[in-house]
Amino acid sequence: MAIVVTGMSGIARGGRDSPGGEMSNENNNSRAEVTPLNVALQFSGNRLLASLKPAERAMLEPSMATVILNRGDVLFDVGEDVTHTYFPGPGVVASLVINMADGRAVEAATIGREGAVGGIVSAGHKPAFGRAVVQIGGTALKMETAALESCKERSAAIRDLFSRYADTLLAQTMQSVACNALHALDARLCRWLLTTHDRVDSDEISLTQEYLAEMLGVQRTTVSGVARHLQERGLISYTRGRVVILDRAAIEACACECYSAVQNHIRAVLPDARPQKVVDARSGT
Ligand SMILES: [Zn+2]
Repeated sequence: MAIVVTGMSGIARGGRDSPGGEMSNENNNSRAEVTPLNVALQFSGNRLLASLKPAERAMLEPSMATVILNRGDVLFDVGEDVTHTYFPGPGVVASLVINMADGRAVEAATIGREGAVGGIVSAGHKPAFGRAVVQIGGTALKMETAALESCKERSAAIRDLFSRYADTLLAQTMQSVACNALHALDARLCRWLLTTHDRVDSDEISLTQEYLAEMLGVQRTTVSGVARHLQERGLISYTRGRVVILDRAAIEACACECYSAVQNHIRAVLPDARPQKVVDARSGT
């Protein structure tokens, strides 16, 4: 089966997956000829897929296409059928967001190269409970959720991997419930910075105050004040649309226990698919 060949995701803001949809401005000119080799390379960029053995990867590969995800792309929205599963590559960060009736929103989970977005728990073709939105763009692999389900039925190893991943995603969501209810904003912001830092290959994280406020479920002015305080303490540099991690160890010390609780669970359940590399490198693991 030929691999589809467009570098444009065809993913519109607002959750429609139509080639004619409104595209965001980022990477609008990036059209990459995608070959099966590109797809194979992308497998190594997603740690969930990379943890599979070659035989299982060969089962999934014919159904995969490479896509470019842009910041703000909505992969699926509340109530929509989840028809595709996305596997973020290095540097890509997506959020599962819960929107309230009054327009406020808060992040329930962050997903990067350690995982996948869409149809993980529900197995697809069921209405989405939340919105999946891209925070930091880049390359990802995409396949129809039905094809993934077929592969799970044929392979116990694939089934086991996604079952384990679903467990870690649920753990992250459960921890977020406790974190949002009980922990101070500066500790939550540090947790968020660590979680995102783990998924990108740079100390620089590109994001707006509006986004950060939405992820944390607070007012923009509130998050701005907390970020300024972290900057004054030398933990980060924060200018418009850009956070630079200056002192990772200090941010870890400031973060609440929720960051390490989730990381420890991922380490226990999915040891080959951990998102972070900074922590790994420092600890020598
Ligand atoms: Zn917390």
